[in-house]
Amino acid sequence: MQETTANRERVDVLIAGGSIAGVAAAAALAQLGLRVLIVEPSPDQGRRLAGELVHPPGIDGLRELGLLAEHDGLGQKVQGFAVFSQGGEAGPQPMVLPYGEVDGKRPVGLAIEHTTLKERLLERVKTFNAVDVWQGARVTAMNSVEGGSYVATVDTGSAESELRVHARLILGADGPMSQMRKMIGIQYETQRYSGMMGTEVSDAHLPYHGYGNIFLNQVGVSYAYAIGGGRVRVMFEILKGADQKGSIAAHLAAFPDEFRREVQEAMMASKPLAAANYCIIPETTVKGNVALIGDARGCCHPLTASGITAAVKDAFVLRDALRKHNLDVTAALREYAQVCDQLQLTRRTLAEELREAFLAETPQAKLLKQCIFSYWKTSPQGRAESMNLLSTLNSSIIALAVQYAMVALQAFRLLPQWIKSNALMDWVRGVIGLLFKSLSFQYVAITQRVK
Ligand SMILES: Cc1cc2nc3c(=O)[nH]c(=O)nc-3n(C[C@H](O)[C@H](O)[C@H](O)COP(=O)(O)OP(=O)(O)OC[C@H]3O[C@@H](n4cnc5c(N)ncnc54)[C@H](O)[C@@H]3O)c2cc1C
Repeated sequence: MQETTANRERVDVLIAGGSIAGVAAAAALAQLGLRVLIVEPSPDQGRRLAGELVHPPGIDGLRELGLLAEHDGLGQKVQGFAVFSQGGEAGPQPMVLPYGEVDGKRPVGLAIEHTTLKERLLERVKTFNAVDVWQGARVTAMNSVEGGSYVATVDTGSAESELRVHARLILGADGPMSQMRKMIGIQYETQRYSGMMGTEVSDAHLPYHGYGNIFLNQVGVSYAYAIGGGRVRVMFEILKGADQKGSIAAHLAAFPDEFRREVQEAMMASKPLAAANYCIIPETTVKGNVALIGDARGCCHPLTASGITAAVKDAFVLRDALRKHNLDVTAALREYAQVCDQLQLTRRTLAEELREAFLAETPQAKLLKQCIFSYWKTSPQGRAESMNLLSTLNSSIIALAVQYAMVALQAFRLLPQWIKSNALMDWVRGVIGLLFKSLSFQYVAITQRVK
């Protein structure tokens, strides 16, 4: 495209994507006095199965940015997780994991229907003086210019549609399947774990009120949590290559009778929503004047329900790095990448380990699962530390390595049980595996600290 003054736009920051990461970043960077333009393709937000449960650090962050207010009355309060395990590790009642106390207070999260949350955030950021939102527009190309920077081409969605947007900083906040990543040639590893199906029911028979209900099952994980307005979101995981009908039947069998009946009726009444669960690891978070943020920067299995909270944290890290380096984009992005990569490593490792423990059937995974539940049952401190890591309140890989070692030590408490069931050799194999994993975490933690 030939660039002229008529088709050129200049802003401080261009953000591709007006969902959680894009809006949080816009609000955070507006605080630095920067002029921000958000480009969001969806003219209106269709219903979508994606993040809804937001941990306390995410909710606090959205409030601090002026994007949510306590009196909004959106969603439903969440006090932590209630974990039901088909293997019986939790016992007849779920394992209840409240958020750990901070300064003597127990923080609360919120679960808000995804589209409602996304719409609310976008509407709120439109009221910010320093932020412009072009809805129905998208970034269609990224051209490299002198000095390794990029200029974006934006399809505005109107008649004379294309504009060249020059920005000191460009953010790719365009989700897990980011086109921005591709346009600037950032390679990434991707792994599709499973699909997800979701429906809504009334909150009358939610098995454990006030908490995110998680059901661990050999066919995958299912979730149920209140999203406000008397409604509950229910989601089932369908593992790659698994029989869908059989998986749904197995998930439903884990629910109490009345709740199961309601879910079955809802699934017959309307087509469930669907989504896919990926692990995506880009080779880098920044390139030139472009930074990836939110799911575009990398995502993992939604087991820990931390994608939204992590996206909000990214926005703060970026704001603080720009402030510290007096708006020097190169220096700030270097710091942003380093901090975010460490946060993401902890989040991804935790999700991977929990997924492995809850779904794999090796002696090591079985032992790890029993160790986790034994740790939670016997240590209130352990429950609080686990929730601090799950909710990203603590994102230190060292803390994760320490917690992993504490969990692994539970293997000795469980030894008599394994001997009784004639599985001593499996226990030995499991312990060797856990020990090896624990040492490799310590190594990663130490090398991260040295960096
Ligand atoms: C089934 C499922 C359940 C989940 N549950 C939870 C949960 O309970 N809690 C939690 O915290 N997280 C959860 N997550 C993760 C959470 O949904 C994501 O982490 C979060 O939505 C990421 O937000 P984002 O803004 O980075 O990306 P997205 O929400 O994916 O938004 C990307 C935006 O970019 C726009 N876009 C695309 N292309 C372009 C372009 N070329 N130019 C401009 N804009 C573009 C899109 O229209 C979209 O609005 C879940 C995910 C899944 C799949």
